[in-house]
Amino acid sequence: MASLSPRSVAVTDQILAVLREAAEPLATLEIERRAGYRPYGSPAYQMLRRLERMGQVERLKVPDMQSRYWRLAGGPGFVPPPARAHALRAGPPWRTTPDVTLCGYGTAGRRVVPLAEFDAMLAEPPPWTAVCPLCVSCRGGEMASWARDPVAVIHADAHAQPDSGARGALAAEFRALACLAAEYPERFRDLLEAEQVLQALGG
Ligand SMILES: [Zn+2]
Repeated sequence: MASLSPRSVAVTDQILAVLREAAEPLATLEIERRAGYRPYGSPAYQMLRRLERMGQVERLKVPDMQSRYWRLAGGPGFVPPPARAHALRAGPPWRTTPDVTLCGYGTAGRRVVPLAEFDAMLAEPPPWTAVCPLCVSCRGGEMASWARDPVAVIHADAHAQPDSGARGALAAEFRALACLAAEYPERFRDLLEAEQVLQALGG
């Protein structure tokens, strides 16, 4: 860098130091901020271009991002954001599998957290970038629970996405329940009458 003035050498050293410490590519503005320069009009951009021509840094074209991003030659790529968390929905009590997310999808390949953890994430101020927005809108208000509203639980399953397998599971379960009722008609009638009494009493 014999052709660079002492000030330019100082700037490039600073820029290279910032990029060396960065875990992922940085926007020009962020490099200026970390190097302690005032944004715009700083020599950082010119120096970055010069370093680029010298093969020491790389400029990254990022679609949908207005700023230019930079890294050391062969440096780190962008760190992908963590997968958004889904919450599990309540299922009928006899169900052991499959689990279904609040937004109606199967859990395979998705990050699913217990409802309490999901609610704790929503207790943080928005924006909630770490949670599934569909699950958030489904979460609004009270969760349908079997004890409070079995019809709502079944209704949600009936409208789940095909990949969840919930609707198929429900069909098999209903057929099995119908067989069970046919096999033990007196027991079924007793249980049903007991429920009807409870309903009449407002239970
Ligand atoms: Zn979701």
